[in-house]
Amino acid sequence: MTKRLTSGRCRAASDGDELLSRPSIKLITVDADVIYQAERMLESCEHCNPEGAEIPFDNILDRITGSDPNLTDYLLSEPAKCPNCRREILEKTLVDLGRAIPPLPRQSHNQPSGSVCDRPE
Ligand SMILES: [Zn+2]
Repeated sequence: MTKRLTSGRCRAASDGDELLSRPSIKLITVDADVIYQAERMLESCEHCNPEGAEIPFDNILDRITGSDPNLTDYLLSEPAKCPNCRREILEKTLVDLGRAIPPLPRQSHNQPSGSVCDRPE
């Protein structure tokens, strides 16, 4: 259940020579699962919040995928949707997270305590 956004998975690319050559843009196809994760972090977008939205959507994707924003371009397998106005969000659409990244939903089983232990004697 632990969500790691910054873990360096897939860090060990065996061809380290590429670091020395000129940087090449890597195109990453973003599948629906990642898009869904990103959508959950959004609060509004440039359409419904033109003053507050100042983060490009691909910046969110950088956080989720742990990619270098300077070297990565994204190709959305489907457009994300603004949770506020329901318009489409593409790679370069500005968005607003509103607040910090929300925690994972807790699965707490709040059992209704029908019989309380304060019986009158
Ligand atoms: Zn919106």
